Amino acid sequence: MDSVDRRVLTQHLEALARAGLTHLPVAKLPPPEFVPAKPTAVTAPPPPKAVATVAPTIAAVPAVEAPIPLSGTASGMAPAITPSAPKPVADRSAALKILSQQVAGCTRCEVLASTRSQTVFGVGNPHARILFIGEAPGADEDATGEPFVGRAGQLLNDIIKASRLKREELYICNILKCRPPGNRTPEKDECANCEEYLLGQLGIIDPEYIICWGAVAAQNLLKSTAAIGKLRGKFHTWGRAKVMCTYHPSYLMRNPPAKKDVWEDMKFFMKDLGVDLNLKE
Ligand code: SF4
Repeated sequence: MDSVDRRVLTQHLEALARAGLTHLPVAKLPPPEFVPAKPTAVTAPPPPKAVATVAPTIAAVPAVEAPIPLSGTASGMAPAITPSAPKPVADRSAALKILSQQVAGCTRCEVLASTRSQTVFGVGNPHARILFIGEAPGADEDATGEPFVGRAGQLLNDIIKASRLKREELYICNILKCRPPGNRTPEKDECANCEEYLLGQLGIIDPEYIICWGAVAAQNLLKSTAAIGKLRGKFHTWGRAKVMCTYHPSYLMRNPPAKKDVWEDMKFFMKDLGVDLNLKE
């Protein structure tokens, strides 16, 4: 490399650093769409795609900086859900968008991929302090592409409002990104397949608090087989986040007396945030 090239490269790296880039992802696995095709021996290689040959763009950087494990669970190598201190992600929205695009094309669960209308990735504030995890999309979520929009979603909105939270302050997602047919409970292997995407969301958003709504969310995140009734009423930890578990809004619709338990859980949770729900606003 001559001195002019070296100076241009230095200037380029300095510009990337000013834009928030902390490292170049050359040593890491690129996202699947960045993997160049292998050239064949007998034909001239096709002209390289721009994204495969140029230095990574700023938009591409967050997805690589985010601790999104790219090792596949499709091969049966389900990664353990091991929380580690996430690195700050320069552009969380961009990182989430890239991850959601990967999810949209995912076919790891053959049955779910062939019956879903669309994937339901997650919505909310990329800088949320509080992240909600539910179970899986239902019919309304499958139709709209957003989690918690049906009757259970309306009940969740009521809980959010009564707890003096705002939905736009939160990030909301599910253990599974695809609707199980007939709203059946997710299978273990489906949860394992989709875990990588949840880990990606958690790594990008890096919440201080996580609320697991229902047994599927609680047991999969905490790697526990305990009943939701045993897991609620106290804080657990996941990485640096405090985790509270409570009943899923769908369960509350079938079993309204449990609403008082969820309200107790929310009072306990909000107290940790410095809000006493026993006091009038
Ligand atoms: S549930 Fe998750 S892992 Fe399974 S097909 Fe949908 S996005 Fe992929």
